[in-house]
Amino acid sequence: MNSFLSGVRGAIQEVITSQQLSDGARDLLLEPMRSIEVTIPLRMDDGSTRAIKAWRVQHNDALGPFKGGIRFAPQVDRDEVTALATTMSIKNAALKLPYGGAKGGASIDPKELSTSEIERLARGYVDAFYSVIGPSIDVPAPDVGTNALIMGYMIDEYAKLSGKTVPDAFTGKPIILGGTAMREAATGYGGYVALREILKLRAWDKSPEETTIAIQGFGNVGSHIARILAEEKFNVVAVSDSGGGLYHPEGIDIPSLLKAQEEAGKIAHNACYAKSITETSVPCEHLNHEEFLTVPVDIFVPAALEGALTSENANSVQAKIILEMANGGVEEGAEAIFEDKGIAVVPDVIANGGGVATSYLEWVENREGRRWRGDAVKSELDALMQEALHESMRYVTAGVTLRQATYQVAVARMHEAMVARGWLLSK
Ligand code: NAD
Repeated sequence: MNSFLSGVRGAIQEVITSQQLSDGARDLLLEPMRSIEVTIPLRMDDGSTRAIKAWRVQHNDALGPFKGGIRFAPQVDRDEVTALATTMSIKNAALKLPYGGAKGGASIDPKELSTSEIERLARGYVDAFYSVIGPSIDVPAPDVGTNALIMGYMIDEYAKLSGKTVPDAFTGKPIILGGTAMREAATGYGGYVALREILKLRAWDKSPEETTIAIQGFGNVGSHIARILAEEKFNVVAVSDSGGGLYHPEGIDIPSLLKAQEEAGKIAHNACYAKSITETSVPCEHLNHEEFLTVPVDIFVPAALEGALTSENANSVQAKIILEMANGGVEEGAEAIFEDKGIAVVPDVIANGGGVATSYLEWVENREGRRWRGDAVKSELDALMQEALHESMRYVTAGVTLRQATYQVAVARMHEAMVARGWLLSK
């Protein structure tokens, strides 16, 4: 079992013990209800065929249809997908969404594929899992390595197989197919709301301009949260991607960096995007992954992949707050170190809930055949995030972290639904 899955299961087991839940409840909470592995034959443009391993793991649907993204990445395996599916159950329950948790994945680097190969893989994924997905069964969405374009291919394949248009079968679709304009920025926006609320609750005494932030990962989540934080006047002083990081103590000019990234497709690591460069100011520092963790900031945002902060490197982090945007970004051992040092962690199951919360709004819109107008999605998303964060914060005490409190709230809700369905008699 990988450390991400054992960490997630460990967090659930703690709640099972403290709430004295039955053995039946324990088994239903720890084990997925369905876990399917398939091999998708992917015909390549050169006429050869590759056998791609893929998974759909459906953790628990007591609260409603399963919901969770599909990841195309080389390291994807059953343990990773199971950990992510379990996390989705907790996240959906913490956000009071009418969903269970699921996740999917295929073990492949999409950067190696042409657009037509990606389209065939997307259609192959739907063909393989058609009988176990659908608007009232399991509703997939994008994750790492997938996007709205891929959801467009998937929903088209689903429509072909079912003989009708089913817009609520997938979320994160292109807007023209019933997607929501806010979806791409939603996870970043939700992370900003979580941070804003935590700063209020902790009576943070610095202004946004004085508050320094480092963002690890500059993909969908990292780039959007960087833009939103900069718009809210926070001082993003460091950013990184898979090629390394940039740091300037006076701050990075995020709009210029985003523009340069859009033009080149990646961050140019030999350039400096400092807000102000004068003859007397220091140059940008170009950092490797280990050095990046040590930058002196108030807030550190892991927004790349799981396992970024571990017991080996946690002591390097100098921040006072960690906003865990990457699923599984903070390992169990790292969290213990942060707790000892009084560093607050806003856990993934709250911090990055904005993506699925907006997917829920898209699904409601598609089911009702209506359109949200103006800023309705943004204000609903804001309200859903605030409610989840404040409710979990009520259970934070000297010995209970925000992650533990969120798991307590979410597991209690899942348990109540399992009892209401008659799966369990009581505790
Ligand atoms: P992405 O593939 O768009 O971006 C990942 C970024 O991380 C890229 O910039 C990549 O270069 C960078 N990266 C990879 N290794 C790195 C390293 N060692 N150091 C620094 N940067 C590194 O993925 P994404 O959609 O932005 O997702 C990021 C995380 O957020 C994942 O854990 C994902 O599960 C989670 N998440 C995403 C969404 C969503 O809506 N996209 C929703 C919830 C959670």
